[in-house]
Amino acid sequence: MAKVIDGKAYAEGLRGRIAKAVTGLKSAHGLTPGLAVVLVGEDPASKVYVANKAKQTVEVGMNSWEHKLPAETPEADVLALVEKLNNDPAVHGILVQLPLPKHIDSMKVLTAISPAKDVDGFHVVNVGKLSTGQDSLVPCTPVGSVMLAKDVLGKLDGLEAVVIGRSNIVGKPVAQLLLAENCTVTIAHSRTKDLPGVVRRADLVIAAVGRPEMVKGDWLKPGATVIDVGINRIERDGKGKLVGDCDYASCEKVAGAITPVPGGVGPMTIACLLYNTVKAACAAKGIAQPEM
Ligand code: NAD
Repeated sequence: MAKVIDGKAYAEGLRGRIAKAVTGLKSAHGLTPGLAVVLVGEDPASKVYVANKAKQTVEVGMNSWEHKLPAETPEADVLALVEKLNNDPAVHGILVQLPLPKHIDSMKVLTAISPAKDVDGFHVVNVGKLSTGQDSLVPCTPVGSVMLAKDVLGKLDGLEAVVIGRSNIVGKPVAQLLLAENCTVTIAHSRTKDLPGVVRRADLVIAAVGRPEMVKGDWLKPGATVIDVGINRIERDGKGKLVGDCDYASCEKVAGAITPVPGGVGPMTIACLLYNTVKAACAAKGIAQPEM
């Protein structure tokens, strides 16, 4: 049976280290990192995420601002708010919750965020820095996924890693991070031929597809480490349930270690957002980033 990778416990530990770092920054430098979150519209899942982000931001001792705008807010007003936050020295991180309503061009809004405050790491400047190996703000879920993989495997040097999914939010950035860790990286996607055969090569599988329980145990190399990023809501036995992109029941029999859903990668995302906000605050103030 695979070792269960406890992302909830790891994220709790990380938040504890962040809280300690924030206390130190306040006393040594008078610096309180601050995160502003912008939510446009009434998407129920987004509302839950934003509330959790605000709660955890305050819990680690940072400043938190929530800007909730109605769904019909014109794009120009969202851009104006981003500009105001860009110019506010107390705000070190800006996060615009996706998805945005259809009449708003997400790329335009993400590009309007100052790259120095882009704690989601989606700005093209940060994407370019990541892909050229420069220090940057890196998307939170990929950072959290790699932290968990390193926690269980130690060094990732030379491992065969297969990333399933090529989105800008998860697949591509996680592949860049694994490349930086000296993995041999394959990015598989919806047009990949013989996906089970490709996945079977992997020492490390990162599944970021959005298809419930797609990856089966017999797709895995025995002993492989599986990081399941997927969060899919399904109905089973008349009840709603969250499942990953991997079929946990069959994968846990073959894998060496696996993240559960929920309780695996999910809790890492907000912890890494807080981490990025501390990083951005230190860079803004020109001081070294504390250990976290
Ligand atoms: P996305 O829809 O943008 O991308 C999915 C990718 O999967 C695409 O690149 C596509 O090519 C690939 N794909 C689709 N069908 C496939 C198939 N049959 N075979 C192989 N590849 C296929 O999704 P995303 O934003 O990258 O998110 C992926 C999953 O991760 C979702 O379940 C999402 O909810 C979850 N997610 C979780 C967190 C978190 O844990 N906090 C954060 C972001 C996303």
